[in-house]
Amino acid sequence: MEKLSSEQLMQMEDKYGAHNYHPLPVVLARGEGVHVWDVEGKKYYDFLSAYSAVNQGHCHPKIVNALVDQSKTLALTSRAFYNDSLGPYEKFATEFFGFDKLLPMNTGAEAVETAIKLCRKWAYEVKGVEKNKAKIVVCEKNFHGRTTTIVSFSSDSGSKENFGPFPDGFEAIPYNDLDALEKAMDDPNIAGFMVEPIQGEAGVFVPDDGYLKAAYEICKKNNALFIADEVQTGIARTGKLLACDHEGVKPDVLILGKAMSGGAYPVSAVLANDDIMMVIKPGQHGSTFGGNPVAGKVAIAALEVVRDEKLAQNAQELGELFRAEVQKLVDKYNILKLVRGKGLLNALVVNDSPESKTAWNMCVKLKDNGMLAKPTHGNIIRFAPPLVMNKEQILDCVSIIDKTVAEFEK
Ligand code: PLP
Repeated sequence: MEKLSSEQLMQMEDKYGAHNYHPLPVVLARGEGVHVWDVEGKKYYDFLSAYSAVNQGHCHPKIVNALVDQSKTLALTSRAFYNDSLGPYEKFATEFFGFDKLLPMNTGAEAVETAIKLCRKWAYEVKGVEKNKAKIVVCEKNFHGRTTTIVSFSSDSGSKENFGPFPDGFEAIPYNDLDALEKAMDDPNIAGFMVEPIQGEAGVFVPDDGYLKAAYEICKKNNALFIADEVQTGIARTGKLLACDHEGVKPDVLILGKAMSGGAYPVSAVLANDDIMMVIKPGQHGSTFGGNPVAGKVAIAALEVVRDEKLAQNAQELGELFRAEVQKLVDKYNILKLVRGKGLLNALVVNDSPESKTAWNMCVKLKDNGMLAKPTHGNIIRFAPPLVMNKEQILDCVSIIDKTVAEFEK
């Protein structure tokens, strides 16, 4: 087959694909560890990690082997029958994260939908909320995925405009605002509070220390479920296995996705203890692909990599180094406003309006200089490399950022 250039491949996507994304102009053909290569062979550091799915690094051999071996043996049975991977995976993952039960799905949004259904059913059958009156409190500027129910409580007009009508049953309060949460809980129909421990898509907003713990306690006081969406923050990204671990909080319902598979395969999950999970009975929820044998084997391998390669510890140490080094750049350049984050989930805020193209142009220049990152909400650049990075590489990346930003300083 004729080898197509980056230009040709971008034109092809433009012509034949829906225009629901606006990618940076780079066409990737290969990945290994912290690096990716474009079709012309240029090498880059990946500083997005597929929105934190590739925490274990691209094409991790242990995960790839699990994927290949199981694909050759048995790929899909549906849940109409048992398979010999699902039980061992559920046992492994529930022990790994410390819950009684796991409900397997595929994408993050599906896991969020699952958590919403679980929370509502618990509210009616355990808490005793009046039929069809259950409400879930969410946060403004949240990002939980793209289904119609999920975008119904988004504050981003672009993601919800003209996708209505929307379902009821959600109330949005400001993030990092405990008084607002306390007030929302006055309503006896509140079933739960769903929160991202750090708002990733919104631009890596880290709440005040103690926010998660206090929010958890407010939920307990009001017999509402504390639901943590750790699809982006989970699995070592923020320097602990879960971002909630920073505050010693164990969610009632934990939502995971992305790095559950190290990016090799869509694997997501909802974890909860029996008193909550057992409200769902056969036939009441499911997915043809959820819990398939490949997903089970891949997820075990991906979690073993996180544990054996001490990725949480690495993210913690390199994150501190990265923020300290980038802070020096923020002090040096007027065009940079601030750096924030936890572990290796960080953001650099550009000192320009969200409407300006500066952050986008900076990401294009970073690409030219060998580093891939993407702006979010106009003037914020998220930096989230694979967690298998080493100190020398992260310092190399800081010097790429330095060199790039210098080109924007007038
Ligand atoms: N929840 C959070 C916190 C996310 O960041 C994302 C994706 O970025 C999702 C849910 C949705 O995951 P997916 O894109 O796999 O549906």
